[in-house]
Amino acid sequence: MEEEQVIRTDLCSSGKEKPQADQLEFGRIFTDHMFLMDFTDDKGWHDPRIVPYEPLSIDPSAMVFHYGQSVFEGMKAYRTPDEDAQLFRPQRNFKRMNHSNSRLCIPPIDEAFALKALKQLIGLEKDWIPEAEGTSLYIRPFIISTEPYLGVSPSSHYKFIIILSPVGAYYKEGINPVKIAVEHEYVRTVKGGTGEAKTGGNYAASLKAQELAEDGIAQVLWLDGVDRKYIEEVGSMNVFFKIDGKVVTPALNGSILEGVTRNSVIQLLKYWNVPVEERRLSLEEVVTAHKDGKLEEAFGAGTAAVISPISQLVRGDKHLEINQGKTGTIAKRLYDTLTGIQYGKIQDPFDWIEKVEDVQQETLKASS
Ligand SMILES: *Cc1c(COP(=O)(O)O)cnc(C)c1O
Repeated sequence: MEEEQVIRTDLCSSGKEKPQADQLEFGRIFTDHMFLMDFTDDKGWHDPRIVPYEPLSIDPSAMVFHYGQSVFEGMKAYRTPDEDAQLFRPQRNFKRMNHSNSRLCIPPIDEAFALKALKQLIGLEKDWIPEAEGTSLYIRPFIISTEPYLGVSPSSHYKFIIILSPVGAYYKEGINPVKIAVEHEYVRTVKGGTGEAKTGGNYAASLKAQELAEDGIAQVLWLDGVDRKYIEEVGSMNVFFKIDGKVVTPALNGSILEGVTRNSVIQLLKYWNVPVEERRLSLEEVVTAHKDGKLEEAFGAGTAAVISPISQLVRGDKHLEINQGKTGTIAKRLYDTLTGIQYGKIQDPFDWIEKVEDVQQETLKASS
């Protein structure tokens, strides 16, 4: 981008009341302000601004409502014991956003500028980062196509928006293994489709399997869309299996979303000298390993839960129990280390943490 753009700031007159720690859920409450930026073919990305959080006014013919040209991201801001605010590898989220943009024919954003805008927004909303153990401020950057036009083509207008939501602890009583159903009818996506992009359509396509899954099933295990044999993801998380001392995760193949947590898990395992393999992994291999007593652990990995141990794989009336339904040693160690780094409780040997400076409302008023 040419010249660095100035982020205009329009503060709300009085803030909303902040929720009590025990009322926090996921994604229902939003902070006082949001970041917005527009794209038009003639001006490119322009008019970056932080404004009061409020409903948008969008033409009913806006392309996003009809053909779903949109992308999103998900990350968190954490409060440290010293009352600082920090982010976990946010550069990777904006990089991935551009990867998704490319697949959805959305013009790329300036990643460094997006991070700067995010830090400014978080700095301003710092008091919204909840304090209680395990809570955080969820960050949702997203882009929607807004050109009022019913033709099927890439839009010429977009909005890039960042909203923030204080969220409760994912695990209220410690990390908790869940039951997973192997999905054999529906697929999430397919190689050549949009699986490696973070776009709403993938989620819309995933709802049916979850709806049909029986009670007590937390998520479904997605198999590949071609052979229906190879393991891809679990719910909206990447998945790992510990088989005979080695940790195996499906290789990125064009239909798997590359998680920031996945990448961090792989780096940590290598750092600890735990053998880790990224390769094709069939359901059959997992079932055989279980039969031979070699399936030691299974867990999902993603920003929301960080690590989500799998207690059972269910397929029809077959139940395959893993590690006696308990959280495995590696899953626990990964969870403790990742959350320890994220919350600033243990040292970060990888330079994953990005500190956020406070932004005083008075300074913004003076400069805007
Ligand atoms: C977001 C997402 C993940 C996890 O990515 P993280 O960056 O670790 O949060 C995994 N799978 C799918 C399908 C996703 O949308």
